[in-house]
Amino acid sequence: MIEFKNVSKVYENGSIALDDVSLFIDKGEFVVVVGHSGAGKSTLFKLLTHEVVPDSGSVLVNDVDVTRIKTSKIPMLRRKLGVVFQDFRLLPNKTVFENIAFALEVIEEKPSVIKEKVEHVLELVGLEDKANDLPEDLSGGEQQRVAVARAIVNRPLVLIADEPTGNLDPNTSKDIVDLFKHINNFGTTVVMVTHNMDLVTYLNKRVIQLEGGRVKSDNLRGAEFNED
Ligand code: ADP
Ligand code: ADP
Repeated sequence: MIEFKNVSKVYENGSIALDDVSLFIDKGEFVVVVGHSGAGKSTLFKLLTHEVVPDSGSVLVNDVDVTRIKTSKIPMLRRKLGVVFQDFRLLPNKTVFENIAFALEVIEEKPSVIKEKVEHVLELVGLEDKANDLPEDLSGGEQQRVAVARAIVNRPLVLIADEPTGNLDPNTSKDIVDLFKHINNFGTTVVMVTHNMDLVTYLNKRVIQLEGGRVKSDNLRGAEFNED
């Protein structure tokens, strides 16, 4: 599903973001990525979405080397990747329904299909009664559920979440990762960055630890993992 082969990335200012990283994530896995600030976690995600191009190595998504794809194929790549961020990134002037529908309008889905898909996904995240609310009327946890709904409505191959619980309290954070587990159980691969060691332990999934742009460990599950 995802493969990094000897990937290195140095930014223009000389910062070494990734240094000869190789890793493989299989279809259907749930992987947690940890590491201190500056370890290279965001760069890893940006390589997947082609926001960043490596200096060397290859990045495969579903057997396609995304570092070498044509510009015209980038939107199609990004539709295969559902992305969720720490700060939700919802459109403030659109309702919950409209925020999710937007992801389908850009691919020119029929209105009747949009309605059906948005309602379905709202049910999946437990927000069917919030369809007409604006983001500002929702709690942080609810806003993140909307962002998750938007990320999965096109049925991506991979759900990528960059510190998705960073702005949420511990109980709400658990609810969000339970939702990720639920989505993972339907077959969607999930890759999540977190700093929260309680969640790493709670999830008890494969942990990839980055440090200084290198893979420091990739053989432990959450409950066995100790940060140091
Ligand atoms: P993390 O997400 O683990 O905090 P990043 O991938 O954001 O790590 O950053 C890895 C390294 O690359 C850091 O030293 C960071 O300062 C540097 N870096 C990240 N983005 C840029 C950029 N756009 N320009 C220059 N340096 C960057
Ligand atoms: P089905 O073959 O019925 O689609 P799945 O195992 O794919 O069954 O999914 C079970 C349920 O969860 C279905 O109702 C499906 O539509 C829903 N579901 C699973 N993943 C997603 C997703 N990424 N987006 C929307 N709905 C999903």
